[in-house]
Amino acid sequence: MKTIPHWINGKDADLQDKALTSTRTSPVFNPATGEQTGQLLLASKADVETAISAAEKAFPGWAATPPLSRARVMFKFKELIEQHADQLAALITAEHGKVLSDAKGELTRGFEVVEFACGIPQLLKGEFTENVGRDIDSWSMRQPLGVVAGITPFNFPTMVPMWMFPVAIACGNTFVLKPSERDPSAPRLLAQLLKQAGLPDGVFNIVNGDKQAVDTLLTDPRIQAVSFVGSTPIAQYIYATGTAHGKRVQALGGAKNHMVVMPDADLDQTVNALMGAGYGSAGERCMAISVAVAVGDIADKLVTALEPKVRALKIGAGTMIDCEMGPLVTAQHRDKVRGYIDAGLEEGAKLVVDGRGHKVSGHEQGFFLGGSLFDHVKPNMKIYREEIFGPVLCIVRVNSFDEAVKLINDHEFGNGTAIFTRDGDSARQFAHAIQVGMVGINVPIPVPMAFHSFGGWKKSLFGDHHMHGPEGVRFYTRMKTITSRWPTGIRGGAEFVMPTMK
Ligand code: NAD
Repeated sequence: MKTIPHWINGKDADLQDKALTSTRTSPVFNPATGEQTGQLLLASKADVETAISAAEKAFPGWAATPPLSRARVMFKFKELIEQHADQLAALITAEHGKVLSDAKGELTRGFEVVEFACGIPQLLKGEFTENVGRDIDSWSMRQPLGVVAGITPFNFPTMVPMWMFPVAIACGNTFVLKPSERDPSAPRLLAQLLKQAGLPDGVFNIVNGDKQAVDTLLTDPRIQAVSFVGSTPIAQYIYATGTAHGKRVQALGGAKNHMVVMPDADLDQTVNALMGAGYGSAGERCMAISVAVAVGDIADKLVTALEPKVRALKIGAGTMIDCEMGPLVTAQHRDKVRGYIDAGLEEGAKLVVDGRGHKVSGHEQGFFLGGSLFDHVKPNMKIYREEIFGPVLCIVRVNSFDEAVKLINDHEFGNGTAIFTRDGDSARQFAHAIQVGMVGINVPIPVPMAFHSFGGWKKSLFGDHHMHGPEGVRFYTRMKTITSRWPTGIRGGAEFVMPTMK
């Protein structure tokens, strides 16, 4: 069985590496077969410190490398990702379970951030004012922070790390990534491709691990900033601990994304959108739609149209041609999602389609569930309040647009949302009034493109900055403003009052 190593200072750090102190491992599974396919080395505090030291050593040289040269590494890296897209997608599917076409989709959304980072010479241009005072000039520039860290979830093993490190590195920082312990092989290939692209050793490092590794990154004084994506309780912990140790932190948490279906919505378009957004990637997306809010008399038509489509979902191993939905990531997670379906029934929601017993022939040990559809879900139910993160769509019926908006605004999460309508006025009102970070108008999964920024509101994000795009550049740099006067411009003696323009 393969052992998946760390990546420190431009090479694998495995059990043969004398500098490593931990031999602890955790299992990695193929969710479609249920088999353990590998074991992942888990870093000790000392192992993480070794990676931080490598990044610290690489920082001065990398920060001094002109942005144009840093951008050229990104150009090469993007080319290599495209060349290795099949291999990367296969690794994602083998450890996450999502279907291959979806794995390629996440890869594309990830390398779009690399494309954005290729523009770093333009993005880092500062501001200059001639004559802020007589014979005095002033300019502002953005400089890298130093060693920064990223801690990422299982559901996008390449895209979410690529929300972070291309921008961080292009800005001149060095990086330590702690990917999810469930699907670590694709990030490791990204590290190898970065090296092939010409990135100097130590600029990008991977430590695999659990809480011990994360806590070291949160407390080590050499780490200047932490980017996190994962569940809300951990995001809250990361933010509190990281900021208490003086770090800049952006911590993106969980979600419960609602799609409002107005009575005038195009039913076919809405149903197709709900199928993809609710059941794609087995619902394991932070921007998945997990609640459809049916306004007025569209509810019956919506449920009637959805039911046969949910029953007909093509479910199987992610490598199967034409498969629409793969397994869940682990047996524990599948059981947790199943537990939510049990809870929904106990609380009185109507289970229109029950995916609990779904079996995939030839893959009986795989972590599969069928699609489930609940109707008449109420806001006090656990299946409404909590993030399920599985292929379970809940229908909540409301009487009016205002009721739909209030429902969403009262929810503790505020990651993504959408409205389906033909009425521009409702759409505009919705975009204005809704307390959610990313909003779709007839677009079910409104994930911002790489040159915009990604982030939710409320308990879906702790910190001040969204990820990638302009916000990413701001997060990974700090501003310095210089005011200069040359000796020939100095007139008169000492001044003891606050300088003002003369
Ligand atoms: P998770 O919170 O369990 O894990 C995320 C990371 O934190 C992993 O690297 C994990 O090893 C680490 N971690 C886990 N427990 C820890 C602990 N006690 N102390 C320190 N570190 C710990 O999340 P997950 O199950 O991998 O991913 C699914 C979650 O991520 C969902 O809640 C989903 O909504 C969220 N997510 C959010 C976004 C977003 O943009 N808001 C994007 C993707 C995923």
